[in-house]
Amino acid sequence: MNNEFLNELRKKTGTGFIFEKEPMKQHTTFRVGGPADVLVTPSAEELPEIVALCQKFGVPYYIVGNGSNLLVGDKGIRGVVIEMTSRMGDIVCEGETVIAGAGASLGRVAAKAAEEGLTGIEFAAGIPGTVGGAVVMNAGAYGGEMKDIITSVLVMDEFGEKKELSARELDFSYRHSCIPEKRYIVLRITMRLRKGCTDEIRAKMSELREMRISKQPLEYPSAGSTFKRPEGYFAGKLIMDAGLRGFQVGGAQVAEKHCGFVINKDNASAADIYRLMQEVTAKVEAEFGVTLEPEVKMLGEF
Ligand SMILES: Cc1cc2nc3c(=O)[nH]c(=O)nc-3n(C[C@H](O)[C@H](O)[C@H](O)COP(=O)(O)OP(=O)(O)OC[C@H]3O[C@@H](n4cnc5c(N)ncnc54)[C@H](O)[C@@H]3O)c2cc1C
Repeated sequence: MNNEFLNELRKKTGTGFIFEKEPMKQHTTFRVGGPADVLVTPSAEELPEIVALCQKFGVPYYIVGNGSNLLVGDKGIRGVVIEMTSRMGDIVCEGETVIAGAGASLGRVAAKAAEEGLTGIEFAAGIPGTVGGAVVMNAGAYGGEMKDIITSVLVMDEFGEKKELSARELDFSYRHSCIPEKRYIVLRITMRLRKGCTDEIRAKMSELREMRISKQPLEYPSAGSTFKRPEGYFAGKLIMDAGLRGFQVGGAQVAEKHCGFVINKDNASAADIYRLMQEVTAKVEAEFGVTLEPEVKMLGEF
């Protein structure tokens, strides 16, 4: 990587917030992924300057949140990974409106909403991502989706221009928004919740947490549901009916507890997980004529 670029990047990024040759396995819930050339965890002020610097030097950059929907290749990532952390994670409640920085975790936002007696985001409390990642993915669970509670999102485009977009402009659908194709960076989210009762909200959150614990293989690293739900089917059921429960490639396995989850059972590589996903897709296609589409996003060199 160009030395002049690196020196400038070091100057623009606060001490302690820039990491060179950083193993991405420490930044993904799959616990796989080779080194990123550089990883930075900027503040809201540093972010536009870092993006501008990457543009100036023609260095590719990638935005990540908590890495809970990512499969990063074993050879890592050439360029700069910009990780949105709690440095960009302020949460403010004004009446029934909640405004959160993109790096805030969904768990923290849900806890804060509960504290303020605001209902509507309980469904997301157990999703282990940032609100930025959740907007990009239109994350959802137990009948709720991010699109139901978002009123607007502040984004920055690759030229550093900021704009506030309405939920309609983000073109939400099942696990989809237009953010990746437009190369927007989510900076801040405004959500509209409703007045409720803190005790009932907390009780709902615990009930959903218990359901996750009983149904999902949370004791192993994973990225949640590996495949999207094909229309009219459940990915996990198709995989189970194809006889793939417990199917293993290297250290990667179709979870026995929930066939919709691929888990890192035993020191899996990204290549193990990728190959397992391909074999599962081929078997399900051959058995049922249904094409599974990954929900997990691939990043870097495999
Ligand atoms: C145990 C487990 C359970 C899960 N359960 C659910 C569930 O019930 N429902 C569900 O929908 N998902 C679930 N997931 C998947 C995952 O948590 C969600 O997709 C989550 O929204 C991803 O957020 P993240 O911050 O980790 O994003 P990342 O995985 O870091 O990134 C996801 C995508 O968003 C982009 N991105 C992230 N932040 C930004 C930003 N600020 N600006 C622009 N682009 C950005 C990244 O480039 C990438 O393309 C689960 C995962 C695990 C491990």
